[in-house]
Amino acid sequence: MNAGDVESTLNILNVLDELLSAGTDHRIHYMISKGGSEALLTALVNTGRSLSPNYTLLLPLLHLLAKVGHRDRRIGVKAEDAGAALLTLSLLRHNVKHARRAAACLWVIQVFSSSVSTANLIGANHGLDVIYRLIPQYTTKHLHAIKAAIDAFAALLCTKANVCSAVSKGYVSGLLRLYEDWHAKATQHAALAICHSLLRCLHKVTHSTAGRQAFVSQGGIRLLYVTTQTCLLSKGLESLVEPSVQLMRKCLPKTPLPLTSDRSAYTFLMPGRPHAVPDMDVEPDENSEESDDEEAEDNKEADFDDDLETDLSKLRLRPDPDRPKELLPQYNRLCPELSHDFQDLDLSSEPEESSTASSSSSSDEEAALLNGLRFHSSRRGGGRSATSSDACTSPSGSPSETDPEGHTPAAAQLEARDFHSHSSILSTTDREARQEQSFASLLRPSLLGADTKTAQLETRAVLLSSLEGRESRENQNQDEAPLGQRGEDEDDEEEDADKSHHRTMIDRLLERHGACIPHHEPRLYRAAAAKTKSIPGFSILAFPDFWGHLPPPGHESMAPRKPNIQRQKVFEDAQRFLTTDGIINQVVFDLEDSSLQCPSDSLRFFSKFECGNLRKAVQVRRYEYDLILNADANSSQHTQWFYFEVSNMVADVPYRFNVINCEKSNSQFNYGMQPVLYSVREALEGRPHWVRTGTEICYFRNHFCPARGRRRTTFYTLTFTITFKHNEDVCYLAYHYPYTYSALKAHLKVLQKSVDPAKVFFQQQVLCGTLAGNPCPVVTITACPASRSWIDMHQLRNRPYIMLTGRVHPGESNASWVMKGTLEFLCSSDPVAQSLREAFVFKLIPMLNPDGVVNGTNRCDLNSEDLNRQWCKPDPVLSPTIYHTKGLLYYLNSVGRTPLVFCDYHGHSRKKNVFLYGCSVKETLWQSGSAVNTVGLKEDPGYRTIPKNLDRLAPAFSFNSCNYLVEKSRSATARVVVWREMGVLRSYTLESTHNGCDQGIYKGLQTGTRELQEMGVKFCHSLLSVTKDVKGLYSQRLISHIDLDHNVLDHKSHNCFEDDEPPCVEEIEYSADCPALTGADLDSDINGNTASADEEEEGDEGCREVKHRRGSVGQSQQSSAKGRLFPHVMRQASAETLGENRNACNAVSVNGQVMS
Ligand SMILES: [Zn+2]
Repeated sequence: MNAGDVESTLNILNVLDELLSAGTDHRIHYMISKGGSEALLTALVNTGRSLSPNYTLLLPLLHLLAKVGHRDRRIGVKAEDAGAALLTLSLLRHNVKHARRAAACLWVIQVFSSSVSTANLIGANHGLDVIYRLIPQYTTKHLHAIKAAIDAFAALLCTKANVCSAVSKGYVSGLLRLYEDWHAKATQHAALAICHSLLRCLHKVTHSTAGRQAFVSQGGIRLLYVTTQTCLLSKGLESLVEPSVQLMRKCLPKTPLPLTSDRSAYTFLMPGRPHAVPDMDVEPDENSEESDDEEAEDNKEADFDDDLETDLSKLRLRPDPDRPKELLPQYNRLCPELSHDFQDLDLSSEPEESSTASSSSSSDEEAALLNGLRFHSSRRGGGRSATSSDACTSPSGSPSETDPEGHTPAAAQLEARDFHSHSSILSTTDREARQEQSFASLLRPSLLGADTKTAQLETRAVLLSSLEGRESRENQNQDEAPLGQRGEDEDDEEEDADKSHHRTMIDRLLERHGACIPHHEPRLYRAAAAKTKSIPGFSILAFPDFWGHLPPPGHESMAPRKPNIQRQKVFEDAQRFLTTDGIINQVVFDLEDSSLQCPSDSLRFFSKFECGNLRKAVQVRRYEYDLILNADANSSQHTQWFYFEVSNMVADVPYRFNVINCEKSNSQFNYGMQPVLYSVREALEGRPHWVRTGTEICYFRNHFCPARGRRRTTFYTLTFTITFKHNEDVCYLAYHYPYTYSALKAHLKVLQKSVDPAKVFFQQQVLCGTLAGNPCPVVTITACPASRSWIDMHQLRNRPYIMLTGRVHPGESNASWVMKGTLEFLCSSDPVAQSLREAFVFKLIPMLNPDGVVNGTNRCDLNSEDLNRQWCKPDPVLSPTIYHTKGLLYYLNSVGRTPLVFCDYHGHSRKKNVFLYGCSVKETLWQSGSAVNTVGLKEDPGYRTIPKNLDRLAPAFSFNSCNYLVEKSRSATARVVVWREMGVLRSYTLESTHNGCDQGIYKGLQTGTRELQEMGVKFCHSLLSVTKDVKGLYSQRLISHIDLDHNVLDHKSHNCFEDDEPPCVEEIEYSADCPALTGADLDSDINGNTASADEEEEGDEGCREVKHRRGSVGQSQQSSAKGRLFPHVMRQASAETLGENRNACNAVSVNGQVMS
């Protein structure tokens, strides 16, 4: 600040530069913290203000200021305070002809512009114009200064005002022309760096809508498209491709989705509110438009810090119950194990009958419960009749086929379908059958067990055989009405005959092709599905659900990501905008328009079946389709889950699919995850597998926007390419292994039949009816007492409870597969399972959101609410499953049987592995950095036992991915409410990846249903760790049997912690923007300017070229030695001066001692 003569100042600058150049940036930050920036700014102002500034001094000063300022976040403000911002601009104006000085000023301006107000100040004083005029067409001279000018220009474009000004002055067009010119001649590295800087300017200017418009109208997309193609041909220009493609992707004009409405194709008339709150008018529209919870949640996933609950009273105190005590006794009926008399243990006969008798009193209640809800759901067409009661209420497990059906005529409305495309599917596999069947009889799809005209439920099995019959039929009877019309004008008379015929048809197919799939029975599935109620009134079963699925024999690795895949896809998308060659753009499937005709050679799509989700398919090119997903029912958002049928394919041709309205901002599809595919033909050949499939997978932000342009402005494309194995196969594609509500019902029936009733107490009841009138099953599993002796009965009545729930989010089908593993294990004869049954009473609610699952929603229930945000005060009418699950918990609580463990099974779409979220006051407070003193806080660390054991037991589980933090945004989730309100210490969310693992023996593999089910088993195993007090000895033996450790220490897990996503090439490629200039880049430029100091006057271009190429303006070259502020000669001189001074006087050593 106060240096006297020029030489001393130079020496000081030199010393500073030497000091700051060594080591890391820490030194610079230290200098900044000691007022270094201010000192340099003052020196700059003092020197620069004079009429003829001393550039010998000014130049190194500016250089050092740029280096230091780049690392000082507040440099802009400091510069303004010191009056240095406009001074530097003025210095620049005076030196536009003086390349080296101009460059120095430009770097400083670039650094100052990190502050919005400084950038605006410089912009307002015509800084943009001054700088823009310094950018010439291609030249070989003064490349430093040119690049410095472009970088400074880009830096100024960080503010809205400057962007507006640049756009209005036509600089966008100018920049494009400059880029075109430089690019055409960019054969050397130096020019390449200029091209990069120009692209950075264009990126900045297109942050604004006006900028993008100018870019597009000035032919920016075409220009980049053309230049990029030349780049791809030249290795040296490769680095320009990525920023160019990203720029194109960003600027492609917003295109509304080709939909008439963003609202879901499925709407459900909501029941009126109960009398207690007559004035509350539910407007789902409003709710869904305003709430952006899920988005917020997703974005929060990584940084929960300011979301942590730090209010000790909220963490420690139990809130008042949400309902009066009088409402609790009704849940007594859901605890039959507490009143069951086990008479059959003495009689040892007819166990099922007696269990029926014991709980029959509550069956009426259940029926009433469902009927009460039917009142609401009958408002829509597909509602049940008032007389219907559900087989689920009967614990006797009588086959549902014999139960009376009560579908209303409205439910019988069939969607007419054209199945022409599938005609050859069975031509080679079931030739005999074809000869035997007449088409007319096969045509009539019927519903097993239905005694009146009912909703016709079609299965692919029947369908396929009928198609095969179709060929013969066409020969026999040309007068028959077209297939599509037949369904609607059917007669009752033929029905019985047809029914029996179909039964044999299915039998035949199953006999011939059916695989033996454990715990799956197609006929039972069909019967269960016949009772499932859906908004559109599904009449078709998807083949995989009906037929069943076996995990494929081997493991499936994560898909390697092809290099540059995203830019290749974006490039193809940009082509659509630029050329119409080969573009078809024809809608080939529309959920809302079944009469749609599509070309004979296009793929056929279909999604109107349980869990199905595909709203529209557009054929873009010969082998490319855009797919649009259906928003959650009654909502206009939450698209992510898909499940649809595709047929009429040609084998060995790569088909590209683009799901263009995904909503999450990133996806595991960018990190090795593949969608799943099921081939009917493969299944009939004995391979009924969902397999991970697809190549060229990537997930990126696209240019589509909502049809009506409201609320959400961004969508993401999931693109994948599939090469089908068979011609004219029927295949199914899904986001993840589907698991339908009907599958759950069928599965529970199979389980019920499988258990030994003398040993296993298995009771399936109805928790409540859903909005659509589907029963929500609750299952009780425990061991029957060894005898009716007082001691055995006492033990039974005092077993602790464990409550497990799942699938509150319909798109998380993995949760159901984990639940399936848990259920099967708990019903099995495994000694651990037996021990667990003897130790606990299990209450399982496997599917908290049946309606969402049925209708293929991703996140919500029919009322467009996320049910896992309703737990604080669930509405009995609108969120019945949550209301009654909580009611059951309250009841258990009220009778002193609060569950020992509560766990809600979920799936996680953005993380790998399986892990638990729990609740801990201490960890939350620690993590939040809260001032609350936790020393006096007592907290049972038992909440860590299960995760610790799972870490050892379950290969897919990662202890280090678990956390126990209580977030405000999750305060209404099951886990937090059960922990806080019911006082359950071990209250968890179990999150299973949709993708795979990055640790343990499954590292690098995608999870399949086998691994998910295994996880369900291992979760049960881990529960042994909380059985210490019960049946101690037996448990101990088992514990050693399964290698479970009661005394797991707080060990450092062998799993190494990884972030949500690994930092890798993909992440860079995923980023939407140009990478920012780094400090090293800037240092490198500045040092280059210094090095070239001597050459400026010489004008020896050839020599300079060489030097530049060696990295002086090379953007990517790292400068290892930052300290080259001064030309070598001067450096030498000042070092000598310093040496002389040291000799001349008593020098001061570093530790302050005077040396003589
Ligand atoms: Zn979830």
